[in-house]
Amino acid sequence: MNHRHGIALGIVLLALAPWVLPESLVTILNYTGLFSLVALGLVLLTGIGGMTSFGQAAFVGISAYTSAILCNSWGWSPWLSLWVGLAFVVLTALILGALTLRLAGHYLPLSTIAWGLSLYYLAGNLKLLGGHTGLSGITSIGFFGLSIDTGRRFTYLVWVIVLLAIWAIHNLLASRLGRSIRCLRGGRTMAAAMGVNVARTKLLVFVLAALLAGVSGWLYVHFQRFVNPTPFGLTYGIEYLFMTVLGGAGYLGGAILGAGIITLLREWLVEYLPVLIGQQGNYETLVLAVLIIFTLHRAPDGLWPRLAQLWGPRERKSHSQNHTAAALPLPQRGKHPERGTTVLQLTRATKRFGGLVAVNDVSFEVRAGEILALIGPNGAGKSTTFNLLSGVSPATSGQVNFLGQDITQMESHQIAKLGMSRSFQHVQLLPQLTVLENVAIGAHLRGSAGLAKAMLHLERGEEQGILQEAQRHLNRVGLGAQAHTLAGNLALGDQRILEIARALCADPCLLLLDEPAAGLRLQEKQALAKTLQQLRGEGLSILLVEHDMEFVMDLVDRIVVMEFGEKIAQGLPAEIQSHPAVIEAYLGSVE
Ligand code: ADP
Ligand code: MG
Repeated sequence: MNHRHGIALGIVLLALAPWVLPESLVTILNYTGLFSLVALGLVLLTGIGGMTSFGQAAFVGISAYTSAILCNSWGWSPWLSLWVGLAFVVLTALILGALTLRLAGHYLPLSTIAWGLSLYYLAGNLKLLGGHTGLSGITSIGFFGLSIDTGRRFTYLVWVIVLLAIWAIHNLLASRLGRSIRCLRGGRTMAAAMGVNVARTKLLVFVLAALLAGVSGWLYVHFQRFVNPTPFGLTYGIEYLFMTVLGGAGYLGGAILGAGIITLLREWLVEYLPVLIGQQGNYETLVLAVLIIFTLHRAPDGLWPRLAQLWGPRERKSHSQNHTAAALPLPQRGKHPERGTTVLQLTRATKRFGGLVAVNDVSFEVRAGEILALIGPNGAGKSTTFNLLSGVSPATSGQVNFLGQDITQMESHQIAKLGMSRSFQHVQLLPQLTVLENVAIGAHLRGSAGLAKAMLHLERGEEQGILQEAQRHLNRVGLGAQAHTLAGNLALGDQRILEIARALCADPCLLLLDEPAAGLRLQEKQALAKTLQQLRGEGLSILLVEHDMEFVMDLVDRIVVMEFGEKIAQGLPAEIQSHPAVIEAYLGSVE
């Protein structure tokens, strides 16, 4: 049975389930659907986006209460109140996101606990929201004259929505926007260097996750027809996270699996535990906790990947293999400036890390159509210079000009937009994506399809264009045959080459390469040199950091030498070779 058959079978079973399952299991199926929606949001936010939230239940509550009040007091139709509820959810998420998403480390999860608690107490104390007693007699959802007031009818409504959500998120994750979302966990610096506005992408994911929770809240309140603060408190916020992590936070299927297992187990435990141990009490929570800890100890990525293994290994396909839309040509990004003119100018730049001066009063320029090498012993400040040029960490003082613009204080993604692209000394890629998909991240700025198009998979032409462009650059650097292997499986040297293809995919006018030849064999180095020469021939300007003197001497036009954060020499390769200060620096160092 292949993947598609599995999905089809699942849908048929779901359609039959309300008719063959006993009422109690239908209820569990319904709750699984409701919880799955919230958990799907958490997969996006936590599993894929790397932002932990204990506060999703609050978003469920905001939409539930809004809809309940509008329908109860104002006689609105649930189909109308849905949108108002979701609007409140978006508004709250935007405000909370703007305030908290910049927080690093444990502060974000802590702040989600704070807002997770606040709605519970707010709802409990506000008369308008019915206090702790809650609101009852809420209308059920009508569908073309049919009232969705039985468990069986509700199963269809909730699961159609769950399946649509899965389909849309699946599409999103396979799109250009989705690739930038995947970068949020462990690839933020790289994504920014490829032009991704990381702060905005984080906010987008946060709002999406909140929206999914909001839809769940709306369904919940009109199914239950009663609402009080309990399901929107911190306990549920934590439980949603448990479901996601238990099922597998990195997988859409994990959300459903986790929601299903916890809902079912809780129901059984509530029923049978008192019989087993002979007394009443909330022991189910304790048993669930132990089970979760045990499972996560055994399967830290959650249960979904284990289940998927039983299915047999599945070659991860990129969308390029899935659809055959005609590729739209990608826009070219600006012309190369005239050969010999100044592209990049660094003026008296200094970078301090506390007491350490990593770059000290360094000035140099890169001219259009040249390859300039930045060399120097380890720790000389070369990578730090790259970082201040590309906006990864701005200079403490001094100025950087790029194509006539002052970019000293610009953010990485803004600089990328101007036409600078780079690779990293410590390779930064998404090991779980294919080589092709990783390179496609480089083309981020050349696509424009937004969220809606990505979710409905209406950006096929553009996506195909991006993937073709990625393939073209892979072919160019000699990695064409490996396009569909996972990037994490490449040898380290090839991963560096992948980074060059990715940087080229942005169609830059200045390329910054940090030790691109490290780890390459002689033949591969020669091939790389040839590619770089070709790029120079096309008018591209290249600034590269390199250790291998031989590689540099034959290839580059000019050399800048750094030592202990300072520029000690600058000139043609032949001049540098015989420069006394350079010889001293190299012979004097431990290399
Ligand atoms: P190179 O690339 O020439 O080998 P680097 O630019 O990586 O050198 O490092 C220059 C100096 O700055 C080193 O002493 C390094 O330890 C220090 N350094 C680099 N990045 C940081 C940082 N983020 N915080 C503190 N010190 C740093
Ligand atoms: Mg370095």
